[in-house]
Amino acid sequence: MSRSFWVETLGCPKNQVDSEKLTAGMLADGLVVARSAESADLVVVNTCAFIEEAREESIATILDLAESRSGNAELVVTGCMAERYGSELTEALPEVDQVAGFGVPVTLTTKSSDKETGSAPPPLMDLLNMPRPPAAAPWAYVKVAEGCDKKCGFCAIPSFRGTQVSRNIDSILDEVDQLGVREVVLVAQDLGAFGRDGARGERRIVELVRRVSEVTDWVRLLYLFPSELSEELIETIAASPVPYFDLSLQHVSEPLVRRMRRPGSAESYLERIQRIRELNADSVFRSNFIVGYPGETEADQDALLEFVSEAQLDWCGFFRYSEEEGTYAAGLDGGIADELVADRLAELREIQDDMSASRRDALIGTTTTVLVDEIGLGRSHREAPEIDGMIWVPSSLEVGQFHDVSIVAAEGPDLFAELIEP
Ligand code: SF4
Repeated sequence: MSRSFWVETLGCPKNQVDSEKLTAGMLADGLVVARSAESADLVVVNTCAFIEEAREESIATILDLAESRSGNAELVVTGCMAERYGSELTEALPEVDQVAGFGVPVTLTTKSSDKETGSAPPPLMDLLNMPRPPAAAPWAYVKVAEGCDKKCGFCAIPSFRGTQVSRNIDSILDEVDQLGVREVVLVAQDLGAFGRDGARGERRIVELVRRVSEVTDWVRLLYLFPSELSEELIETIAASPVPYFDLSLQHVSEPLVRRMRRPGSAESYLERIQRIRELNADSVFRSNFIVGYPGETEADQDALLEFVSEAQLDWCGFFRYSEEEGTYAAGLDGGIADELVADRLAELREIQDDMSASRRDALIGTTTTVLVDEIGLGRSHREAPEIDGMIWVPSSLEVGQFHDVSIVAAEGPDLFAELIEP
């Protein structure tokens, strides 16, 4: 009887893609997907190590699965925590049978034979270019590069994901073909820099978007670093069916942004946003901001509050600064008290929640095209999968198809729509 496995995925869409590739690898090795983690012969936890909260969640999940797994089941920890902490994790978690860094095969047979025979570990997998099973939804994330060459003060990702390695465009197009989806969501740590590490030494993100657009209906981009937003890229996205701009700004107050070792300012970001809206008034904006970075002042907070009010972003996340070992910021003075960070987060979220809700309300009475993800639920170009609101549509609309609808109501981040009869 085939041995079974279960993959538990934590963290970001890039990790989700890695899990799907691990799954494809284990299926190719003759294992089968278990009905549950409790019934699996092999339990794999694909962890996240980005910030403290994510690490706590990873550890809690590992311990829960160690507890609930069936008697002889093996527990393998992979992903960012495995890569970042390696043997430290092995020592700290005796419950775990294997800590497998990026690309280390997690298949049962391999490990147990090593222990017995002491043979050399199997060759690393090229996780970035491994095949994927067809997608279960009409959309899918496609990871186009690994690692990052930037040096943002708060971020440890380059220390364990390494410098940027971009895939070649043909292997990405093969994957898109394998997935068979209507919407491709391109992801990477620093998507806008795609291709710069290649032979030509120049960015190829525009070329990539154009080539993927030739083989799928919708192409959406996540994780755009502000200085990588070239005029050609914004024109390409603004002219596409998905004028969606996920700008990872992190902060806008110039002195603090510099202290984060990042470019830009509120003024330059507002200019970019205005330029984009001139190109396409239906453009949609998402961003994320860090609150409580060492040295943050009331003036910095005021600058961000003013920016959030003026920029009128559709979707926004605000995150508490997390001190990360080995980062530039970990050595900085000027730590911010937890209560003050909590107050500043609450202030920002209140303004943005009203902003997002009023931008949703303003869509009532308009028409749009939705991709139906599941019975009764769809998204337009304004909603990225899993992180933004949804559109409730008539359950008669076919899943995986596009439909023109009129927006009749809004409730928080979600909209309600009716089919426009031809
Ligand atoms: S761009 Fe900055 S925040 Fe993003 S992964 Fe690279 S170093 Fe980290």
